[in-house]
Amino acid sequence: LVSRKRKPESTIVNINGELIGTGTPSFVFGPCSVESYTQVAEVAAAIQSKGLKLIRGGAYKPRTSPYDFQGLGLEGLKILKQISKEFGLSTVSEIVTPSHLDEALDYIDVVQIGARNMQNFELLKAVGSINKPVLLKRGMAATLDEFIHAAEYIMSQGNDQIILCERGIRTYERATRNTLDISAVPILKQETHLPVFVDVTHSTGRRDILLPAAKAAIAIGADGVMAEVHPDPAVALSDAAQQMNLQQFDEFYDSVQKFLKNHEIH
Ligand code: PEP
Ligand code: MN
Repeated sequence: LVSRKRKPESTIVNINGELIGTGTPSFVFGPCSVESYTQVAEVAAAIQSKGLKLIRGGAYKPRTSPYDFQGLGLEGLKILKQISKEFGLSTVSEIVTPSHLDEALDYIDVVQIGARNMQNFELLKAVGSINKPVLLKRGMAATLDEFIHAAEYIMSQGNDQIILCERGIRTYERATRNTLDISAVPILKQETHLPVFVDVTHSTGRRDILLPAAKAAIAIGADGVMAEVHPDPAVALSDAAQQMNLQQFDEFYDSVQKFLKNHEIH
């Protein structure tokens, strides 16, 4: 069902009127985790000031260690939703089990499936049955064929509103947190009719190369870029090492816009 051979036209994902996959790159910014009202509101104001419509923030965090911050759960989703209403934004947030769907759906506009759950087939089937867009992240050890099959699981249940997100894969290289597989973008776009995003934060894990990574993603045909922004990354409860602060976000976004203009990418 996800194959471009079967459906040559690109699928447009509609997030409350924000159209993904039309040729103009979209952007998802926001903190790694929802930590407090003021923390998210500061980021939301910055996003709104750029005329953007999407905000991310994790409430159910899939952390490597059980002793690390696990997210605020439903309370976090309520904060995210409240702020999204105040700032006119749509929310992107991860769920990690089908049982979250009941409580979470009122608060999430785009349901994120994280890298660690790309092959959680019951979760994929569950989000395949809902009436909301899904942002599916590539597993850190998943081949593109496995990634495409994960999207197929979702679409097999009837939901065709799927965004694929390349977020870096595990390789021997340690200079970056993961290895951004930039060639995944044109391959996924050839093989499927779905929009493709690149998460420059989790792939590189390096603030100093977010901008060139975003430019590369756009130049190679990505439909959108995701990056994490936190008012004070040093005290962030997750991913403190890689989130942009508000000043860095401002410079990052303006530079990306300049790049788009100079290359006539609309
Ligand atoms: C995230 O985007 O919040 C996240 C945990 O990323 P990933 O699933 O790609 O590791
Ligand atoms: Mn993160």
